[in-house]
Amino acid sequence: MPVIQETVQEQRIYRIRHSFAHVLAQAVQRLYPATKLGFGPPIDDGFYYDFIIPNPISESDLPAIEAEMRRIIAETQVFKREDLDPESALARVERMQEPHKLEYARELLEKRGLPRLSFYTNGPFLDMCEGPHVESTADLPPDGFKLHSVAGAYWRGDERNVMMTRIYAYAYPTRAELDARIQAVVMAKERDHRKLAKELRIFVVSDAVGKGLPLWLPNGTVLRTELEKLAHEMEFSAGYVRVATPHITRRGLYVTSGHIPLYENVMYPPMRMFEDSDAGGSQAEQGEGDPEQYYLKPMNCPHHHMIYASEKRSYRDLPLRLAEYGTVYRFERAGQLQGIARVRGMSMNDAHIYVTESQLKDEFKSVMELHQRYYKLFEFEDYYLRLGLRDDDDPKGRSKYVDDAASWDYTQRVVQEALEEMGLYYALGVGEAAFYGPKVDFQFRTVLDKEFTVSTNQVDFAVPPRFSLRYTDRDGSEKVPVVIHRAPLGTHERFISFLIEHYGGAFPTWLAPIQTLIVPVSDKFNGYAKTVQAALRSRFIRAEVDDSPETFPKRIRKAAVAKVPIALVVGGTEANGATVTVRRYGIEEQRTMRLDAFVVMVEAEIGRREHVRAW
Ligand SMILES: [Zn+2]
Ligand SMILES: [Zn+2]
Repeated sequence: MPVIQETVQEQRIYRIRHSFAHVLAQAVQRLYPATKLGFGPPIDDGFYYDFIIPNPISESDLPAIEAEMRRIIAETQVFKREDLDPESALARVERMQEPHKLEYARELLEKRGLPRLSFYTNGPFLDMCEGPHVESTADLPPDGFKLHSVAGAYWRGDERNVMMTRIYAYAYPTRAELDARIQAVVMAKERDHRKLAKELRIFVVSDAVGKGLPLWLPNGTVLRTELEKLAHEMEFSAGYVRVATPHITRRGLYVTSGHIPLYENVMYPPMRMFEDSDAGGSQAEQGEGDPEQYYLKPMNCPHHHMIYASEKRSYRDLPLRLAEYGTVYRFERAGQLQGIARVRGMSMNDAHIYVTESQLKDEFKSVMELHQRYYKLFEFEDYYLRLGLRDDDDPKGRSKYVDDAASWDYTQRVVQEALEEMGLYYALGVGEAAFYGPKVDFQFRTVLDKEFTVSTNQVDFAVPPRFSLRYTDRDGSEKVPVVIHRAPLGTHERFISFLIEHYGGAFPTWLAPIQTLIVPVSDKFNGYAKTVQAALRSRFIRAEVDDSPETFPKRIRKAAVAKVPIALVVGGTEANGATVTVRRYGIEEQRTMRLDAFVVMVEAEIGRREHVRAW
């Protein structure tokens, strides 16, 4: 049941945004007559336009520009297209007296050899542009756009070029959609994992350690530990076994795997050393002959393959499911790093499953089911599946995909059948396959509609032969297993950044770094608070006492700010009756209950990994 998606250009919203950009340019030139133009494309949530404005402008000038845009919209200017041959086109652009447009027109005509250029006129405004546009400015919703920021941007993104002024805008077909977007931006800022992680003390990045190499604080480490515990249990029930592999490895393994040279640009450079040198690490460069090269591992697969190959395998051993929270290192460019969402060192919820061809479909389905169990637990609803297939028409076909038509046909068919038989909806991603086989990506959207992959379920028929992996089949013949690569919880780093934003920092009890915070109403009851804490800790419940000298209301507010799922108030009544007064995060009603009953209740809630939202 593939879901077909229409292309962006076909959408009305694209024409609206593109047309708004022309209106913005016209408004800016009316208000600041000597303004010269750069580019003005539609973007994900609106549009922007780059200008050289004679006097500097700031965000405080935006309302006046918006007002001018509304006047232009009210003029019902009609968008008219004209296509000109190179000679007339150049003459037209020269008359426009827009040096940047002229530079671009020359490039299109002379370097790229376009046979003609298209122009759009609306009212007195002329722009060289491909379109498409709306019929007239009457089709533009005057309350559907908002100019929201001003930034500097180099002409064509090149820092050797002139710096232009970029005006960004949101634009939607209706006021309601615009408001929803503005609301989402506010929410995204509040939920940004970097902001929340700082407040919740999840991780820090130290300059002394290095960029993209987060240090996990005690609270963040609880999140990692709980996720690993969850993975251990889920994988244990699904028949996985656990392995552990080192962080550094000799070069040859990555040559066999193909990471070198294909992937070398995102690997850390090698450490060179002599195996027999007595000099130690500091003088590792000195020795006879060529040094050994060791690399930080960028992926766990080759190591698991070596474990598979370490003994003779029979069809009776398969499926063999090797799992590891493996730590890998990738040299992401500094500009790409982003909190813990994009880092250089990460621990991955990895596993490699070795199957016979006839086991592939069932095993692929079990991996899909495992994903569904996790996602239900985390209450993820807004995601879709994308089936990544080979693009048979890709001109780079041979270098982009392993050249083995029969295996492609077989594995693509099996994966598609698995999805159909499970009754799952999916989008077709032709050209989205991995180098070594088809895959299913789990695609999520952020609050701001940015799409990203949380996890993949990949079939690999190409790498096992490179490692000479074999098993003895029923009839005694030697065969090559197929491998499934899967990591439903991705990496700790990416997944936790995602969970922080998903829950807005208010984790369910089982995951929360502090599960219960005990708040005595006055220091007279600190002793009883400690008794409660001891009772909870004896059942492995993470309980803290806030006996700081601040006032009681202040400490209660602190518990809410820290988004602790359960605050326990203890005073005279509670101490005398061996009870606690329970306040749950986000729930108005509080309840007083016996301490022993509370312990049983929370233990069960944690055991079931429940997210309690009401009494
Ligand atoms: Zn245009
Ligand atoms: Zn792998």
